[in-house]
Amino acid sequence: MKEKNTLSRRQVISGLGASLAVAAVAPVLDAEAASSPVAAEPLQDPTTKYPKPPFKSQQQPWPGLAGKMEPQPDHGEKTYKGSGRLKGRKALITGGDSGMGRAAAIAYAREGADVAINYLPAEEADAKEVIALIKQAGQKAVAIPGDLRDEAFCKRLVEEAVKQLGGLDIVVNNAARQQQRQSILDLSTEDFDATMKTNIYAPFWIIKAALPHLKPGSAIIGTTSEQAMDPSANLYDYAQTKAATSNYIRSLAKQLGPKGIRVNGVAPGPIWTPLQVSGGSTQENLVKFGGDKPLGRPGQPAELASIYVQLADPGASYATGQVYGAMGGGGLP
Ligand code: NAD
Ligand code: MG
Repeated sequence: MKEKNTLSRRQVISGLGASLAVAAVAPVLDAEAASSPVAAEPLQDPTTKYPKPPFKSQQQPWPGLAGKMEPQPDHGEKTYKGSGRLKGRKALITGGDSGMGRAAAIAYAREGADVAINYLPAEEADAKEVIALIKQAGQKAVAIPGDLRDEAFCKRLVEEAVKQLGGLDIVVNNAARQQQRQSILDLSTEDFDATMKTNIYAPFWIIKAALPHLKPGSAIIGTTSEQAMDPSANLYDYAQTKAATSNYIRSLAKQLGPKGIRVNGVAPGPIWTPLQVSGGSTQENLVKFGGDKPLGRPGQPAELASIYVQLADPGASYATGQVYGAMGGGGLP
């Protein structure tokens, strides 16, 4: 379509046969080529775009599988369209099997990046689908299962990603543990420790291992949460890890800014992912999940994919230490 348009203009110009006319019209042609013509999409109402509560009560053992959720989450499998924004980049995404990590993995691959994903061995079924989707996008896909609560594994994960991708320039620390507890008295030391290890220690270990490989222009992205600013009563441990995540994003952006490495965060509101159906929410909250937001529904991972792309895009070169939110109308980043 683009070629056809350009060609017909060229034909018109050559018909004029004047070099002056070519010089005058050439910038117009360039501008046209840059704004690649795409078919108009109909406007979509965000309140009716995706399922609304009430949802079916459902519980899976942690860490849960997207493939077993009802309704199935949308990670952009059928909808995300790339335009070469991350061509040649090499990305590592933790929790890349499902939820926001999967949406980011699909989008990154369709934008031209090679992608390594980490996940727990129990999530192999979800991970296989993501690996297939990355390959379908024509990109290199690397699967590195393993438990992020282990420092030695976090180091191996980065080394393996660098080796298999042939370098690294985007690191997305997205994996997290969320297990709700009504009372602090029900929260064991093991629980507390597992949440801290997954949500705080793992990004610390991964960033330390990745840093020697990251060149100026690289990007680190963390998934934080609306919980960082507005913690729920039953997420005592999880919410404080998200406050810490937003905080490390800002601190590290200051530290790494002079080295040309950008550090930013994504802050989701309630999003329809396995984390919520495998102990992250009570069944009572799950049934009405997202219903209290101005958009009247939870978000879908696909609705955050473009934010992960934007923060990694070299065009966003002045954005560092920022947290971009997607909360359906409630909350603060
Ligand atoms: P998800 O369950 O799809 O993703 C979380 C992932 O974390 C899992 O897929 C799993 O692979 C990984 N993980 C957990 N423990 C691990 C461990 N020990 N080792 C390796 N991997 C481990 O759910 P999600 O909602 O997409 O979560 C992604 C991020 O979004 C998390 O940081 C979460 O805190 C954040 N978030 C989610 C919501 C929401 O409502 N779903 C809201 C705000 C923030
Ligand atoms: Mg998962």
